[in-house]
Amino acid sequence: MPKTADVLIIGAGVIGLSIAYHLARKQTGLHIVVLEKEKMHGAGSTAQCTGGIRHQFTNPLNIQLTKISYPYFLRFAAEMQYPIYFRKNGYLLLTGSATRLQALREMNERLADLNIAAELLPPDEIARRYPFLHTGDLLGGSFCPLDAYADPYGVVEGYYRQCRRLGVEVLYGTQVDGIITGSGEVKGVRAGGADFYAPVVVNAAGPHLHLVARLAGVDIPAAPFRRQVYVCAPLPAVPPGIPLIADLDTGFYLHVEKNGILLLGGTDRDTSPGLQPAVDRSLLPFFVEKATARIPALEEGQITRIYAGIRSLTPDGLGILGETEVSGFYCAGGFGGNGFMHAPAIGMITACLVLGEKPPLDPSPLSPGRFMSTSLADKALF
Ligand SMILES: Cc1cc2nc3c(=O)[nH]c(=O)nc-3n(C[C@H](O)[C@H](O)[C@H](O)COP(=O)(O)OP(=O)(O)OC[C@H]3O[C@@H](n4cnc5c(N)ncnc54)[C@H](O)[C@@H]3O)c2cc1C
Repeated sequence: MPKTADVLIIGAGVIGLSIAYHLARKQTGLHIVVLEKEKMHGAGSTAQCTGGIRHQFTNPLNIQLTKISYPYFLRFAAEMQYPIYFRKNGYLLLTGSATRLQALREMNERLADLNIAAELLPPDEIARRYPFLHTGDLLGGSFCPLDAYADPYGVVEGYYRQCRRLGVEVLYGTQVDGIITGSGEVKGVRAGGADFYAPVVVNAAGPHLHLVARLAGVDIPAAPFRRQVYVCAPLPAVPPGIPLIADLDTGFYLHVEKNGILLLGGTDRDTSPGLQPAVDRSLLPFFVEKATARIPALEEGQITRIYAGIRSLTPDGLGILGETEVSGFYCAGGFGGNGFMHAPAIGMITACLVLGEKPPLDPSPLSPGRFMSTSLADKALF
């Protein structure tokens, strides 16, 4: 007997489950089935995510996506009945480049127009607030106190539990290896040796987005790139409660967990595409050079673990969200290092598109068909 549904969602990561949740909440009785190749939800990119949420983007569309998502994070624990350890520590973006400083200044003007407070700090003020930073080569930085962290495990688990309460089915160990189409429309998928039929299929396969799209004959120029995270034992000089600090010139970032453990990384900008999350130890010396140049106390730091995750990046640095040329077949992914923080907005917008409602923002700049003349070399760096 073939299985049927109203909507099939491929991938039970934070994006797939957010889409399922928003669809189920909007339309009671909708039969939604999420197909996940792994044995549990949230086992893909979401499992490696460091949980940052920021408003500070040079692209106004990304600011809008955070503006839509942020209130969901604020009420997530109460609404989903699951803790996400939301902490409003802010983000501090540093630069020694006049061009980047000007970009930060313009970004802050845009944020101010949207009633989001962010301040431009001179190097001496940065040194006063964060004495563990080397600031000699800096021209300034931008600090937004609203930027935050939340626990990715809690968010994906909260979505999953709420989806189940709303009647969403989640099938594990069910890898989609075919998409059934006909007359330019999607009809269903082939997964785990069975056929599933539905008039709507949403591809939320994370780093596999482009591969799953190809099953429907759709070419999506998203590509998977590895990102390494260096876990370092707490350092007395670097207290918990400080903002996420990112050096825009080198990519290096510092994120301090509640217990003082440091998560560091961001210096692996020039890796080649690939789906293998194996750690590349040859990147360590370059990382250490950039990290200790910004935080000299890291000379004394003890790296306890290195792990790697995969982010799906697009040529223009924006995610992909919308219906493809195959009617009823949607893609939602390619959000790079922002897919977690924007998952609430992505879920809400996708649900609106599928149900024929007006979404909270015009998603056409994210449309899957927009890539005609850009190359992966243009991909966004932060
Ligand atoms: C090291 C690191 C740090 C990050 N930090 C941040 C951060 O601070 N803030 C932020 O916003 N973002 C961050 N990100 C990015 C964020 O993790 C991703 O954008 C987000 O998790 C993507 O969610 P997803 O649901 O699209 O993908 P995934 O979590 O990968 O989920 C996709 C799911 O699809 C399944 N799947 C794939 N193919 C198939 C198939 N054929 N059939 C069935 N199932 C399939 C996979 O098993 C997977 O479970 C980070 C990423 C990394 C790697």
